[in-house]
Amino acid sequence: MEYFTNYQLVNGVEAEAFCKSESIKRQSLLRRDGGDMSLELADVLGMCTSIEPCNNPACQVCNTRNRLEKNKELLARVYGDENYYKLVTLYYYSEAMDDLDFSDWDVRDFKNRVYENFEEIQFEGIADGWIEYNFDQRSWMWVPSIKLVMTEDKASLKILNERVKSEPVNRCFHSFIESVMIVEEINDFEKVFSNDHTSMAKMIDKYEDISGKEKVDRYPLEPKRAVLSYLMQGQKELSDFYFTYENWS
Ligand SMILES: [Zn+2]
Repeated sequence: MEYFTNYQLVNGVEAEAFCKSESIKRQSLLRRDGGDMSLELADVLGMCTSIEPCNNPACQVCNTRNRLEKNKELLARVYGDENYYKLVTLYYYSEAMDDLDFSDWDVRDFKNRVYENFEEIQFEGIADGWIEYNFDQRSWMWVPSIKLVMTEDKASLKILNERVKSEPVNRCFHSFIESVMIVEEINDFEKVFSNDHTSMAKMIDKYEDISGKEKVDRYPLEPKRAVLSYLMQGQKELSDFYFTYENWS
């Protein structure tokens, strides 16, 4: 696959090899689950080839290829101005779901909410990125988030942060939400959409460090929830998870 040529993800793991082995792992989890939908999805992933890609969002190979394509397009759009962009992650605790709601999550509906936020703050510039979701073990809910490359505009970011923060959340989140927005420097534009395998949901949980201080980390999903996340992805289109916004008024 040409998109993977010389492309590296984290820890020097080659993208293509990593994605293929991830796909095989998913197929075996789906087959072990044994439900009709799971078996059907395992077949789809199993038949994916570089000549006839399945283009299913649950396929790590197609998903990564799609990200690399979108990243290329974005790089072409911002070329020469890369320093004016930041990586922004927004956590929408207000949109958290239990397993049942997550299994038929309307991703487009969520995406529209994010668009609305951008319209409301009259954001000027480019915001491109991916919808993600993780299972928060502290609340037993799936929390959607969005990771965006955004034109740096401190005033807009501040308003956006306040807006997302002001959304009402389920009581179970009250004790531990610290921030809903993380702003990071972009060190390597070419890897910004691929270096953390953002299409792979994780479990978020707390732990105590050696000094007894409570911290939070990401862990692999337990098999049942991993299957749930593949089935949710499997019913969607690759483009459903991609967000793009541009406004220069
Ligand atoms: Zn595929």
